[in-house]
Amino acid sequence: MLSVSHVTKYYDTVKAVDDLSFEVQDGEIFGLLGVNGAGKTTTFRMIIGLLEPTKGKILLNGKPIDYQVTDTIGFLTEERSLLTKLTVLEQAIYYGTLKGMRKEKIEERLDYWLNRFGMSEYKNRKIKELSKGNQQKIQFITAILHEPKLLILDEPFTGLDPINVELFMEVIREFKEKGSSIIFSSHRMEHVELFCEKLVILVKGECVLEGSLKEIKKDYRKKNIHIIGDVSIDKLKEVPGVLDVQNLANEIVVKIKSDKEIDDVFEVVKKGKNVTEFKVEDATLNEIFLSKVGEAYDK
Ligand code: ATP
Repeated sequence: MLSVSHVTKYYDTVKAVDDLSFEVQDGEIFGLLGVNGAGKTTTFRMIIGLLEPTKGKILLNGKPIDYQVTDTIGFLTEERSLLTKLTVLEQAIYYGTLKGMRKEKIEERLDYWLNRFGMSEYKNRKIKELSKGNQQKIQFITAILHEPKLLILDEPFTGLDPINVELFMEVIREFKEKGSSIIFSSHRMEHVELFCEKLVILVKGECVLEGSLKEIKKDYRKKNIHIIGDVSIDKLKEVPGVLDVQNLANEIVVKIKSDKEIDDVFEVVKKGKNVTEFKVEDATLNEIFLSKVGEAYDK
């Protein structure tokens, strides 16, 4: 288990992280979310021991993170720091050896992952000759080669096409099944929503929302009603508690303050024609994120 407890980090006078606390259990996928400059990378750097917190404690299974435990951590950095003059194999050997792996094991695992990622033919190619997406796949493989117990992924999906996003997610879920803890950052809420269980939203280094995705969605009272049919947009807008009505190409989306408004919206829909759908859904994580970040900036 990873425990981040009341951690604050200053760069001179800039407070990058402000009294942040959270825990990531074994076998859990945890999202660290925030806009640019919120403090995500700084938090990751403190977790892997590259930066010292100004205040607070970070423990992995009850122990400080030092060279003895770094072999059990895998890290995909945001800078995509690859040794670009090396071949894929040479780089894997370099990093794998640093993590205490034998050369044969490194090559065996590299072959397995290259095959999984459809990249076997790149094994002896120089990294600088690979496309950006393929470089990212190599960096991800490098981060997981030693089968880490704690996998830290800074913006792992940036720049990936949807097929590779899915592939990354599949592999991350496999690590979760094997009991690894995964902590990742992202700006893309649709990715977070797909597979993250617990999350923290950071604004200017401070946690503005924390909890399980399910609970966060349940507690957020605003809902969306999806309607397919010929229904008066004006009448929907007149219902008290309706915040917005979006008349989209294939559906109408009515945003309501809370589920108290559902019946009143339904009364309007009943007067419509050709209605084939009336569905109430929780707000999306993107809506919750925007609202929480907005509230924090308005303070
Ligand atoms: P992004 O999504 O843009 O990568 P982030 O959430 O990872 O952002 P950080 O990179 O952790 O945010 O930055 C948090 C704050 O700390 C920002 O205000 C940033 O300007 C500041 N900061 C980051 N690194 C340094 C540094 N080396 N020296 C001084 N200030 C820094």
